[in-house]
Amino acid sequence: MDLKCKKTNCKYNNCYACMSRKIKVSRNCECSTFIRDNNPNSNQRQDISRDMFETAPEIHPYRHNRDLSIECSAECLFNKDGICRANGISVMNGKNSGVCITNIEP
Ligand code: SF4
Ligand code: SF4
Repeated sequence: MDLKCKKTNCKYNNCYACMSRKIKVSRNCECSTFIRDNNPNSNQRQDISRDMFETAPEIHPYRHNRDLSIECSAECLFNKDGICRANGISVMNGKNSGVCITNIEP
């Protein structure tokens, strides 16, 4: 499961990758696991549009672990009984939180 996320001011974000073992996505596709990091490090603050290159994230501790899960309440083709079955998701920088843009309405 690959979890790319542009909500860089989240405490789980590391170079556009989500490092959380588990996230919850709510009915409106917002990530409810988001926790604002009031002291983001330089990796979190990187800006691809300004720097023109992307620093690679650290090795994701859970990416190849079957325990990594996304609980989801949104109506979506990838939602099977409240669990996301996509191979990976992309989360964009929403106003309040990250927002899953892999969502496909059934
Ligand atoms: S907003 Fe959600 S998906 Fe993005 S880094 Fe934070 S916990 Fe992960
Ligand atoms: S792809 Fe669909 S099921 Fe998976 S987290 Fe996004 S909205 Fe939920």
